[in-house]
Amino acid sequence: MKDKKTRLITILGILVSILAIVIARVRYNIRANKAKSNIDNQMAEINRINEERNQLENISDIANKAREDAKKEENTVQENKKEEENKTEETNNKSNDESNKQERKATNKNVIVIDPGHQTRGNSEKEPIGPGASETKAKVTGGATGVSTGQTEYNLNLKVALKLRDALEAKGYTVIMTRTTNDVNISNSERAKIANEAGAAVFIRIHANSVDSSSTKGVLTMCQTSSNVYNGDLAGESYKLSKAVLNNFVEATGAVNKGVTRTDTMSGINWCTVPTTIVEMGFLSNPEEDELMATDEYQDKMVSGMVNGIIEYLND
Ligand SMILES: [Zn+2]
Repeated sequence: MKDKKTRLITILGILVSILAIVIARVRYNIRANKAKSNIDNQMAEINRINEERNQLENISDIANKAREDAKKEENTVQENKKEEENKTEETNNKSNDESNKQERKATNKNVIVIDPGHQTRGNSEKEPIGPGASETKAKVTGGATGVSTGQTEYNLNLKVALKLRDALEAKGYTVIMTRTTNDVNISNSERAKIANEAGAAVFIRIHANSVDSSSTKGVLTMCQTSSNVYNGDLAGESYKLSKAVLNNFVEATGAVNKGVTRTDTMSGINWCTVPTTIVEMGFLSNPEEDELMATDEYQDKMVSGMVNGIIEYLND
């Protein structure tokens, strides 16, 4: 009985021990699992962090690349801009050239400037014979005197010029006079500038000639040569104008045709940026022409010839 009890206690003891071991084992396992899962969690966290870092690095790479691209783009844009600016400048230069040409050629078709040559008193002060010229000439001279009538050239020029103005205005043209009285002081370059500023289609300068020989007579017109350093590019237009005015003048008056004189020595021509002609209507040194030019009848013929010449030139 006692043995049985002792054995039972022993077995019970063993059972309790086994149970304790099992419990301990289970608890250990649970803790171990927990620890493992913690480690797993931590590992996952580390992985996640690593991944995030990688992602950040990628983003940073992308950002750097984007920055580089942007810089490249900017450089390209700047280069393009520069190129564009250069092109614009080129275009501007070109269009400036063009507009200069236009300023000279595509003048106001309706505007005619008339310069009655000379004035009551000449002005012997000097002015350059052209823009930037070192050579100088008197600003304006008094002009010739009629050998027979004693009429002054400046007054004859003004009378005819005023008639020409009226005739052109009657045809619908806008006429600007460099002077309408004799008592003025306007240099030849200043007269040209009036025509330039007006953008005149025609700048016509009215003069009468005079030479030592009293037998010389006839009409001539004058303009620059194509090698004129100041406005040679206008020589063609000025010549056409000179020729048209000359031919129509001869036709209207029957005067001797002395042709178109080409010269680059006249300040009043050299300063022009518009087509120009000087009309030397006749010779005050020739008694016959001096007297003819003093008459209203002949003045009207000269005027009608010049009007026809100007219109022919403008309509060409
Ligand atoms: Zn003159």
